[in-house]
Amino acid sequence: MTAFSEASPRGAERGRRVRSVVILGGGTAGWMTATALARQFGGTLDITLLESEEIGTVGVGEATIPTIHWFNQLIGLDEAAFLRETKASFKLGIEFVDWVRPGHRYFHPFGTFGVQFPGVAFHHRWMKARAEGLDLPLSAFSLADELAQQGRFATPAGDARSILSTLGYAYHFDASLYARHLRGIAEAGGVTRIEGKLQDVERDGESGLVTALTTQRGERLEGDLFVDCSGFRALLIDGAMGGGFEDWSHWLPCDRAVAVPCARLDDTTPFTRSTARPAGWQWRIPLQHRIGNGHVFASRFMGEDEATAMLMANLDGEALAEPRALRFTAGTRRKAWIGNVVALGLSSGFLEPLESTSIHLIQSGIAKLLTLFPDRDMDPMLAERYNGLLNADMDNIKDFLILHYHANPGRTEPFWVERREMELPESLVAREEQYRRSGRLMLGGEELFRDASWLAVLNGQEIVAGDYNPLADVLDSATNIAQVRQVAEVIQRAAPTLPLHDAALAAAMAQG
Ligand code: FAD
Repeated sequence: MTAFSEASPRGAERGRRVRSVVILGGGTAGWMTATALARQFGGTLDITLLESEEIGTVGVGEATIPTIHWFNQLIGLDEAAFLRETKASFKLGIEFVDWVRPGHRYFHPFGTFGVQFPGVAFHHRWMKARAEGLDLPLSAFSLADELAQQGRFATPAGDARSILSTLGYAYHFDASLYARHLRGIAEAGGVTRIEGKLQDVERDGESGLVTALTTQRGERLEGDLFVDCSGFRALLIDGAMGGGFEDWSHWLPCDRAVAVPCARLDDTTPFTRSTARPAGWQWRIPLQHRIGNGHVFASRFMGEDEATAMLMANLDGEALAEPRALRFTAGTRRKAWIGNVVALGLSSGFLEPLESTSIHLIQSGIAKLLTLFPDRDMDPMLAERYNGLLNADMDNIKDFLILHYHANPGRTEPFWVERREMELPESLVAREEQYRRSGRLMLGGEELFRDASWLAVLNGQEIVAGDYNPLADVLDSATNIAQVRQVAEVIQRAAPTLPLHDAALAAAMAQG
């Protein structure tokens, strides 16, 4: 045998390759998956998507995080067309209002705090400066925060010497228009859309693999691989494959939302606002044509009528539709890939929308699926790896969300008192403890939320670091304070020179 034949992969026998994929569901998850597979496989994969207009979509996923750029590049999205067609706005981060106590505000910015000085991370330099008399809060070192407060926006610069390199950004968009936009791209790429309701799931008696979906109208959709994007119904991963669900509502008890759009204001604020309410929180997401609003609450502590009235009393403009109620349970499927079924989107689990992570989790699932794309024999090791990676993602995000609720020193309502006193996951206890003791952020290399995010929320929720990295002591106090202060001054000088959000958006949409 030659070295070449030993090295030639098994899958090169073309008969083993997956030839057809059937996607159940045409919400954000379904169309993101269809678009990505169509783009990546060109015409070599037969892709069919079954969805039911009568059942409809959740359609409220309107805020994203910066990882969305990765997905947009993957599918070759034209940013100007995307901004126009989805009525999008730019997002610099999330403003948390009243989370610590009524009247309090902090900002979780995209991008970084400060600049990268040689040596120790910037926040240790800031912590040392604070301990030695500097009177500037962490927020003074975020250009994104400053721009958000001034209603301005700029895209990040590649040049590390520019303060603009510290920025990050994402988008708010109309979820229904986004799904429509992606559908156009997917169908142009050869994806076949079937309108109809799922009737039955056929499985092979021996292997247990799904062989076909049938519709109520009698179509039979055969496939090698099935992607469950059927939303909370989870018709394939749970209904057919018995995937189970790990309930996290003891940590994240919000299980209801009421959503309503309202008229927009003159200027678009380039950030999501999250305002704490007595039994949850309210989102405000500005778009070009309206503002999306929703009240997320725990039904154990508040009824739907009261939650709806609270939402309607806290809108910036006239309501543009009837409020819409949604129900969910925070939690995950430890096995989002079973046999030849992969669940993406809400069918794989849901962590409430506090940090806009659902669309990220869809694209992260798509990336993992592409990396681990199986042959028709569905090697279980691929599924195992996929599930392990996804579980780590979910666990880390879960801890980050719990932190927001738990660290609330000044709220007095029973919902918040219970959150303050709840038992935390051990992983979060360890993180909080390390930060309190040493100012260290103990993050793994693969984690979604990085130093700046944890720092923003730990500091914003008033968890105080008791020390900083001793490496910062290499500099004398006066020099350190002067250098750190200078960064804030650069931010103060730069911000007013940058465009207002709506001007920046108009310029971006005019391109191409
Ligand atoms: P869905 O939108 O529910 O789509 C399910 C699809 O399956 C539909 O096309 C439906 O027709 C089809 N289907 C179901 N049953 C059948 C059947 N029997 N036959 C045929 N077709 C069927 N995410 C973010 O990233 N940012 C946010 O700001 C955000 N906010 C949210 C706020 C709330 C209150 C909620 C509940 C979610 C939020 N999300 C957010 C999550 C986001 O909405 C979802 O991740 C995203 O919409 C993907 O949903 P999906 O495609 O998995 O499911």
